[in-house]
Amino acid sequence: MSAVPALPIPPLPEDTSAELLRLLDALEPAGLWWLSGYAAALASRGTVSTRAPAPAAREPVATERLTVIYGSQTGNSKRLAEKLAREAEAAGLAVRLVRADAYPQRELRNERQLAVVISTQGDGDPPDDARGFVDFLAGKRAPQLPDLKYTVLALGDSSYPQFCAIGRKLDARLAELGATRLGALGEADLDVDTVATPWLERTLASVREVQKSNTPRAATVTPLRAVAAPPASEWTRERPFAAELLVNQRITARNGTRDVRHFELSLEGSGLDYEPGDALGVWPANRPELVDAVLESLHLDGDGIVAHGGETRPLRAWLGEKRELTKLARPFVAAHAAQARSTELNRLLAPDRAGDLGALLQSHQVIDLLRAYPADWQADELVAALRPLTPRLYSIASSRKLVGDEVHLTVARLEYEAFGHRHFGAASAWLAGGEDGARLPVFVEENERFRLPKDDARDVVMIGPGTGVAPFRGFVQERAATGASGRNWLFFGNPYFDRDFLYQLEWQAALKEGSLHRLDLAFSRDQADKIYVQQRLRERGRELYDWLENGAHLYVCGDATRMAKDVHAALIDLVAEHGGKDRERAAEYVDALQQQGRYARDVY
Ligand code: NAP
Repeated sequence: MSAVPALPIPPLPEDTSAELLRLLDALEPAGLWWLSGYAAALASRGTVSTRAPAPAAREPVATERLTVIYGSQTGNSKRLAEKLAREAEAAGLAVRLVRADAYPQRELRNERQLAVVISTQGDGDPPDDARGFVDFLAGKRAPQLPDLKYTVLALGDSSYPQFCAIGRKLDARLAELGATRLGALGEADLDVDTVATPWLERTLASVREVQKSNTPRAATVTPLRAVAAPPASEWTRERPFAAELLVNQRITARNGTRDVRHFELSLEGSGLDYEPGDALGVWPANRPELVDAVLESLHLDGDGIVAHGGETRPLRAWLGEKRELTKLARPFVAAHAAQARSTELNRLLAPDRAGDLGALLQSHQVIDLLRAYPADWQADELVAALRPLTPRLYSIASSRKLVGDEVHLTVARLEYEAFGHRHFGAASAWLAGGEDGARLPVFVEENERFRLPKDDARDVVMIGPGTGVAPFRGFVQERAATGASGRNWLFFGNPYFDRDFLYQLEWQAALKEGSLHRLDLAFSRDQADKIYVQQRLRERGRELYDWLENGAHLYVCGDATRMAKDVHAALIDLVAEHGGKDRERAAEYVDALQQQGRYARDVY
């Protein structure tokens, strides 16, 4: 959630109101209603200090419950934290679940059982919603925690050198502050559940032991949000809905730099719901040609039956539907190096070669490795060594209020030549190859951090180059459908105006109808020098700063490694220039926007 009223709340000092807004931001409507009644009761008794013991506050004291804190960028940490909280609750344990940026930091010293589930972004950064929590723990204000028992589940991607760096850092720091591990740090790779499932089981067992040995009391569970409620639809990540493909349309010119597709899928009869800002998870399948190439290079029989993890199917089905073939990961390189007895590959795995290994992981698919370093694999060993296939998440590009039972996506089809062969992205090529009427397994992945302001009089600024524009199509549709009175400003960029202007006609129509108020474009390759969206931000700095001062919400979607960082730097520059601040103050201003939920990013 993001939208609470303007800052500062008049009767409160600025820092108090900022903290209050941060806490309110995490509450669902039921919690907000409860709080309003509670505050009114306090006020009518003339008791304005919430430090007084509150008769209505029936939560167990912090010392007797497990607190689960999560920091999540793409939703995996959130999903696992929710699962832990749900299972702890079902087991009768006292538990509360909090998103890292809604966690009242001063409560940390009172915690006795803590589980942290946190991901690491590309270069070793925390997820946006956990920046403040990570800084607080790392900093001097973090309290000593001799009475705390804790455990950390770190999520990451082993193709980056800083694999699980944030989780590792928190795990070490909590120990340094005197806390004791409830269980060992879990380090989960992209096949998250391989590590997460046993970690969850271990954590539940340890917490059960600890709470059993405490003074017996009825377990009282008051999650800050209704997270423990079952999902509204029966269709989930594990049990996806087979959505019918209605439209598969290329929206870049034939001679465009990229083949970008607009997809429309039917959710009719699924009960699946989504909000603008959410993502659609899609379970892809590997191309039969790629599966054949793998079988051929290893001289394996695709019809051979392989049993693994309690499931039995032909090898061809394992490779087609259940294993990653287009993304290479470190553990498979290590297994293949041993299998191929390759000194060269083994050297690449040395700690001082992380950069070279990273380059190999980015440039090679599994088939490239098999071709370059021949080895003998047994079918069952191969299935065990390859990573389970994971769903791909795409930002939803539509609003239900306009499209009803449909969901729209904007996806760049990945296809390139390398090592003498054509290569394809698993999901994008599979989606693009879909005929009308095909059925695709999908689920909705909520993204509560990327929401339109609740107060529709607020202005919104949307920065989405390339396919990063997807959620903003949904935002503009939604604001038009609800008749929001705030203004909408879009910054979009792509290589060429005449080939890559995604949804050009729609934006022009929206400008005409008044559902889009400003559109600034950066076509990078239409002139000798590159022009990117951040240049447009700088050029419009004065107005943009005025919008922000006026309470606007800012959104960035797209590439995390370069664009999002450059846009962030441009924001700090323009706040410094037009707000008359030095860089440090300007950076604080931008951080404060983030903490108030007025600067949200959906980037990877
Ligand atoms: P792209 O590669 O991001 O390129 C779009 C435009 O941005 C091009 O004009 C490109 O210029 C320009 N650009 C390159 N470097 C930039 C920089 N440092 N700052 C600003 N602009 C820069 O577009 P795409 O191929 O559509 O890919 C979009 C990216 O967003 C992908 O990485 C995708 O994975 C990600 N994405 C993420 C989400 C999400 O997190 N929910 C959703 C959609 C897309 P030149 O190429 O001419 O240099």
